[in-house]
Amino acid sequence: MESAESSTILLERLARILQNETHAAGLKPTQWEALRYLARANRFSRNPSALTAYLGTTKGTVSQTLNALERKGLLVKKTDPADRRHVDIDLTEKARHRLDEDPIHALTDATASLPAGEQAGLADGLRTVLEEALRRRGGRPFGVCRSCRFFRADDSQGAPHRCGLLDVPLSDSDSRQICVEQQAPC
Ligand code: SF4
Repeated sequence: MESAESSTILLERLARILQNETHAAGLKPTQWEALRYLARANRFSRNPSALTAYLGTTKGTVSQTLNALERKGLLVKKTDPADRRHVDIDLTEKARHRLDEDPIHALTDATASLPAGEQAGLADGLRTVLEEALRRRGGRPFGVCRSCRFFRADDSQGAPHRCGLLDVPLSDSDSRQICVEQQAPC
């Protein structure tokens, strides 16, 4: 219990460091989180409702965040002509350059300095804690496509892979992205 409490305090301090540095880097923490999410999310998940679920926040906050990022030239919104309520979001080149300077890289570098086994153990432990926290709140895991129960490694119709839920082809690049519909294998 003592080390569980210590870990939680360490996570809180790391989150504070990141939050302070993201403010200093010219965007609000939620705006950075939205950019990071949109850079990792697949084509079924780059929309306001999936981002709302990922951040665990309100539609109003997400709408303000997206509008601010759009004004800064960091994303474009595309409305579906067949359903004008549906909006897809794409990052711009400017956003991708901005992400190269993301202050989160300093923490990634610190983690990368650990031996490989410790890095993997840390990632596994944090993933388990996050999944439990999400389960208690009814949140979605947003796992990587390749680890989804619906992921089919081979597609008989010619694509590298296939989604068994949405019945669409998937590329190798798709298979490494996160998805709002992802579910762990049974
Ligand atoms: S296989 Fe799963 S994670 Fe991948 S696109 Fe389909 S539902 Fe999403």
